Amino acid sequence: MSDDSLFDDALSRLDEAAAHLNIDADVIEKLKFPRETTKVRLMIRMDDGSRKSFLAWRCRYDDTRGPTKGGIRFHPEATIDEVETLAFWMTFKCAVMNLPYGGGKGAVQVDPRKLSKAEVERLSRAYIQAFSRIIGPDRDIPAPDVYTNSMIMGWMADEYAQIVGQAEPAVITGKPIALGGSLGRSDATARGGYYLVRHLAKDLNLAPSLRVAVQGFGNAGQHIARLLAEDGHKIVAVSDSEGAVFATDGLNLDALFAAKNDGRSVATTAGQHGHTALAADDLVGVECELLVPAALENMIDEDNAGSVKAKLVLELANGPVTPEGDAILAKNGVIVLPDILANAGGVTVSYFEWVQNRQGYYWTVEEIHVRLRTIMEREGQAIWELSRDKGITMRTAAYVHALSRLAEAIEAHGTQNFFMS
Ligand code: NAD
Repeated sequence: MSDDSLFDDALSRLDEAAAHLNIDADVIEKLKFPRETTKVRLMIRMDDGSRKSFLAWRCRYDDTRGPTKGGIRFHPEATIDEVETLAFWMTFKCAVMNLPYGGGKGAVQVDPRKLSKAEVERLSRAYIQAFSRIIGPDRDIPAPDVYTNSMIMGWMADEYAQIVGQAEPAVITGKPIALGGSLGRSDATARGGYYLVRHLAKDLNLAPSLRVAVQGFGNAGQHIARLLAEDGHKIVAVSDSEGAVFATDGLNLDALFAAKNDGRSVATTAGQHGHTALAADDLVGVECELLVPAALENMIDEDNAGSVKAKLVLELANGPVTPEGDAILAKNGVIVLPDILANAGGVTVSYFEWVQNRQGYYWTVEEIHVRLRTIMEREGQAIWELSRDKGITMRTAAYVHALSRLAEAIEAHGTQNFFMS
């Protein structure tokens, strides 16, 4: 691991992209710090009558292109560095997809698995009480992220409605359908990545049936496994925080979904259905053509990037590959479809949810899928061509693509040249 913070690593991508563009210095000046990050203490009553404090943050990184947008993570190791980095990535992700949003992110430092359901509800409502003046349908719009889900978004929307005195479903996305959620949101992150791989398959020279390894078996990981398996690809390995399983002929997905639904690790299926146990850390080195990181940041670094056998990496997680890991993958000819493009299906359908909430008219799931596919293919193709034309990685191309849009918006307020001429 490098000594750089996650945020330093993220900023290095900005410098790299800027080198390929002729942009005003104002742009970098504006994008190198978050606009605002608020830190609070949430205090809730626990089931045993005691009171407990939790640290929480909300970062609005940049709102030049529109209100800030980004998920809320509940994780015991959440830090301000992580929140600001995720908000930076969201700024670029929304620009990659040309959504009218800036980037934001939030987190609570908590292990929600150690709380009761009622405690999680109280914590979710406390988050909104603390940040009700920061969020808003035209200001900052949260969504789910790691260890938060649609029910939590529903509680949060409800708490916001109570504070402002009226229903405001567009304040938060990823809500249950019955509370103004969008059809197609639950698998949108994976589906966007799946459309991208399908669209680029010919350019990438992919075989019709790929062996796939999926790291992390939550929302993103489970849906990508299902979508790829439905297309005839073979899911040969999956992992979660407690372990991994492997099967050369393909894993039994129903057994894996059943384990997760029961609150068990995928590792508990070892010894059945031809599944063999594997250490979670060994998943990245499994023999396969497509590796899908769908867990957390920094999972592929200088220590294990050399073991990657896949020729294609689809980053459904945010920031799963460190800059050092990236350099090793590039040297070994591994193509990485970067997070700010590959997992942008989630925020895109969140944007659709916000649009539907504001217009009060709801689309069919088919309409959602067509609109998502159109945007994924349009932006994926543009980034692919940029990467070929300039001889740069897909990641650098995605940053160049996003930065040129951010620069256009920032420069539209006037640059040094304008004011001094
Ligand atoms: P989730 O909480 O549903 O799932 C996370 C999974 O990662 C769990 O299965 C967990 O066990 C696993 N995990 C944790 N540590 C691990 C480890 N060390 N090794 C292997 N697995 C591990 O979260 P999610 O919503 O699926 O998000 C996963 C990633 O995708 C995150 O990086 C998130 O920011 C990103 N993402 C999610 C969305 C979305 O819409 N859900 C959108 C964009 C990006």
